[in-house]
Amino acid sequence: MAQARKKKDNETEIRKHYEALYGAWGAQHWWPAETRFEVIIGAYLTQNTAWINVEHALANLRAEQLLSVEGIREVTLTRLEGLIRPSGYFRQKAGRLKTFVAFLDNRYGGSLDRLFAEPTPKIREELLSLNGVGPETADSILLYAGNHPVFVVDAYTRRIIDRHRILPEKADYEEIRDLFQRALAPIAHEQQQTPAAHVEAEFRGAAHPPSSMSSGTRTALVQVYNEMHGLIVGVGKNYCRKSKAVCDGCPLGQFMPQGHQSPSK
Ligand code: SF4
Repeated sequence: MAQARKKKDNETEIRKHYEALYGAWGAQHWWPAETRFEVIIGAYLTQNTAWINVEHALANLRAEQLLSVEGIREVTLTRLEGLIRPSGYFRQKAGRLKTFVAFLDNRYGGSLDRLFAEPTPKIREELLSLNGVGPETADSILLYAGNHPVFVVDAYTRRIIDRHRILPEKADYEEIRDLFQRALAPIAHEQQQTPAAHVEAEFRGAAHPPSSMSSGTRTALVQVYNEMHGLIVGVGKNYCRKSKAVCDGCPLGQFMPQGHQSPSK
C-alpha cells in the first residue's frame, strides 16, 4: 500500500519536473539530424564522448557523403575508423556501425521503414542483441529515429532523481524508464486535446535549432518523451553537473529535498 502510494507520488513529482522545465525552456528540438540514419549513427557515436566530438565525426562522414545506409555499407572499415576518429573509441564504434547495417540488411533488406514498422518490444529486443547497443542507445534509436514511444534514461536522469530523492542513481534502468513513461503519459493525453504550439525564439536548456528530424510529425506521447529527455540533458549540462550541482537558477530548484544543501558531488 505504502509502496503504491510512493509510486504515485513519484509519478506526480516527475510530471511537475516536466512542467517546470518545459515552462522555463520550452521545446528542445531533439534530435539534431536530417535523417533517421543520421540519428542512429549519432546514437552510436555519442557513447562515452561529448556531443561536440560526435559533430566532428558526423561532419567528416557528411563531407564524404557517407551518412547513409549505403555509405556505411560500402565504406571500408579502415576508412570509416579514420572518419569517425574524433568521436573516440573509433575502432569499436566503426565495427558497431557495420554490425548495425549488416543487421538491417539481413533482417529488413536494408530498409529502416521495414525495421521501424515492427512492434516496439520486438525492435528493442533485436537492437539490444547487437554488439555495443545498451538500453540507452536502443531507446535513443527507437525514440528519435523510429518515433516509438520509449523514454531514454541517461546518466543525467539518474543523477537528478537521485539528488531529488525520487529513486537511487543505481536503480534499474527499466524501473526508471517505467516511472517516467507512466508519469508523462497523462501529459501527452492532455496535449492531444490542446496541442502546444510552443516554439522558442531562444534555444535554452539543451535545445538545438529545428532540424528535419526534430520537426517531423509524431504522436503526442513520443513528443513528450522526446522533450523530457532533451530538457533533462539541459539540466545535466548546465546545472546538475557530476562534480557539483549549481542549484541557484536551476529550474528544478524547487524540487530539492527540504533541508538539503546543494550536492557537491
Ligand atoms: S542542480 Fe540542484 S536543483 Fe537542479 S537538478 Fe541538480 S540538484 Fe536539483
